[in-house]
Amino acid sequence: MHHPNFHLIEHPLIAHKLTLMRRKETTCLAFKQLLHEISLLLGYELTRDLPLSTTAITTPVCDTDAPTLAGERPVIVPILRAGLGMSEALSELMPDAGMGHIGVYRDETTHLPVEYLVKLPPNIGEKRVILVDPMLATGHSAAYAMEVLNNHGVSDRSMHFMSLVCAPEGVEHLAKTHPDVPIYTASLDQKLNEKAYIVPGLGDAGDRLFGTL
Ligand code: URA
Repeated sequence: MHHPNFHLIEHPLIAHKLTLMRRKETTCLAFKQLLHEISLLLGYELTRDLPLSTTAITTPVCDTDAPTLAGERPVIVPILRAGLGMSEALSELMPDAGMGHIGVYRDETTHLPVEYLVKLPPNIGEKRVILVDPMLATGHSAAYAMEVLNNHGVSDRSMHFMSLVCAPEGVEHLAKTHPDVPIYTASLDQKLNEKAYIVPGLGDAGDRLFGTL
C-alpha cells in the first residue's frame, strides 16, 4: 500500500483507547466517549500546520505580542452518520469552525455510496475543509464525499481527511483518486472481509456509536 500523504498517528493513549473501542463488549456510551477522546488527539495532530499571526495583548503583567490563529477557521464536514462522533471533538477544538454534512450510505450489495444529504456552508470553496469518517473501508464513500466537495469548489489541496481506522484497500483507492488529500488516522488494519467490513476493525461504527445494533 502506498499513499503519498498518509499519517498514522502513533501514540500510547490512542493505541490503548482504540483497543477499548474494538472490544465487542464495550458499551455504546464508552464507545462514544473514546471516539471523542481519540478525535481530540488526532485533531491536535491534523491542525498542527494551521497558520498563525500575532496579536498585541495585555497580560496582568505587561503588553506582549502573542500568537493567534490567522485567517478563517476550517469547515468540518462529517460523513453521516458515524462522522458525527468525530466532528464534535473537532468543533470543541475550534468552536468557531464552520460545519457541513454529507450523508451517504453503502448499498448492501454493491458496497457503493448512495447520497441522501448534502448541506454545506455557502463559501466553503474558499476554506480549508476537514472531512471526517471513522472507518475508511473501500474508500468509495470518502472519495464520493471528496468529489462532492470538489463540485462545491474545494480543491483536494484544501482538504484533510480524518479517520479512526483504515483498510489498505481504502487507502489505495484514495491514493488513486485523491492523492493530494492528506489522511490522518489512528490505525491501518489488515484488510476488508467479504462484506467490506474492516478486519480486525470494530464492527459498524455508526451502530456502535448510536446503539442501533
Ligand atoms: N463501516 C463501518 O462502520 N465498519 C467497517 O468495518 C466498514 C465500514
